[in-house]
Amino acid sequence: MTPQITDEITRRLLLGQDVNPPAPTVDWHHERQSLGEGVLLWLMRIALALHLMLPVAALLGWLPLDRQVWLESAMALLLAIGLVTWPRLGPAQREWAGWLIMAAVVVDWSSGLLLGDESLAVRAMVTGFLYLPLLLVALSLMSVRTPWLARATLLLMAAVYLVGAQRPTLAGLPFLGWRLPLAFLAAYGLLLHYLGVWVRQVDALMASLNRESVLAKAAATDALTGLPNRRAAEAMIDTALQAGKPLALLSIDVDHFKDVNDAFGHEGGDAVLCSLARTLAAHLRSSDTVCRWGGEEFLVLLTGAEADEAVRIAGRLRRAVRDESGGWLAPVTVSVGIAWARQGDATPDVVRRADAAMYRAKGAGRDRVVVAGSKSGVIPLRHPDPGLADRRAS
Ligand code: GH3
Ligand code: MG
Ligand code: MG
Repeated sequence: MTPQITDEITRRLLLGQDVNPPAPTVDWHHERQSLGEGVLLWLMRIALALHLMLPVAALLGWLPLDRQVWLESAMALLLAIGLVTWPRLGPAQREWAGWLIMAAVVVDWSSGLLLGDESLAVRAMVTGFLYLPLLLVALSLMSVRTPWLARATLLLMAAVYLVGAQRPTLAGLPFLGWRLPLAFLAAYGLLLHYLGVWVRQVDALMASLNRESVLAKAAATDALTGLPNRRAAEAMIDTALQAGKPLALLSIDVDHFKDVNDAFGHEGGDAVLCSLARTLAAHLRSSDTVCRWGGEEFLVLLTGAEADEAVRIAGRLRRAVRDESGGWLAPVTVSVGIAWARQGDATPDVVRRADAAMYRAKGAGRDRVVVAGSKSGVIPLRHPDPGLADRRAS
């Protein structure tokens, strides 16, 4: 265990705080938010490309540099700033940034529909019917604090349509007048309503899945250390044996753990177990798994490890525990037994061999690694403490 971790645990113990790692949870609310957010970001990118068209055309001299070009340039700038700063914003800030951009887009669109020339008005009408509601849908999906804003925006857009539809060019088109805002309100109001219903149902489903996955995780997790427990370890060994993959098991038992409990109390002993769990996990490859087998005994699953490599890893773990437990009064040490899965092994067979090797390490003086089935069994390990180095089983 690193001194920092040890210090932190000692501090928590002194303050009477919980030393256990927090239970894992899945944030479905965040998942839902990111669904709307993904759509919103794509729409913002498309909008940026569209809003750049007029300024670029004006720069190339194809269009006069009129008010609309400036407005579109300002919108493009706002969208670009929004896209660049997005990753740095928190969830609540993102929600409000989304609505700010929506407000700017609505102002831009309304001015095009109500104040721009006739060709702009026709374009704004189409944009307002197709693109803006999509933006609204994405925003209402990711918004949890401001669901009323979607309805308010929808009503505002319908009112703008009603006024815009009175313009001479638009008034001449069929299906306009009072019908368009009404159709708009009905179509997108229904869409938002059913989307809201759907999102609530998905939320309820996710909450129940979340509960189930938390329960399943809890059943497979050791409550003290947060490591996979014995049940999970057995399932993992079963799976590896069935797949016929090379598998080495390290049975790791803390030496004289009763003394640790005597010195620091049961809670102190618990904290040492938590630190040990972290130390072991920190010194493993990503493909290896450390489990709490029970009490002060851990089991490490090394999949695909060659004999040499498994022995090296076992030695590394043993040294790491001894070297990194300096934060406690005396160094904590472990005895390690290694066994490899053989053809036709069931889970208890290979575990029994690893355990037997670990007990041989205890018998040989503790703080060492023993390989199951080997003659002397004890691996000579170079050690900074010469008194403990290269001791062999008698
Ligand atoms: P050795 O293995 O080196 O022979 O000595 P030991 O002192 O570790 O031996 P033993 O296996 O007899 O004792 C293990 C102790 O671990 C006994 C028990 O009180 C303690 N223990 C088991 N589970 C926990 C736990 O979850 N928390 C704490 N604090 N202590 C535990
Ligand atoms: Mg022990
Ligand atoms: Mg034990």
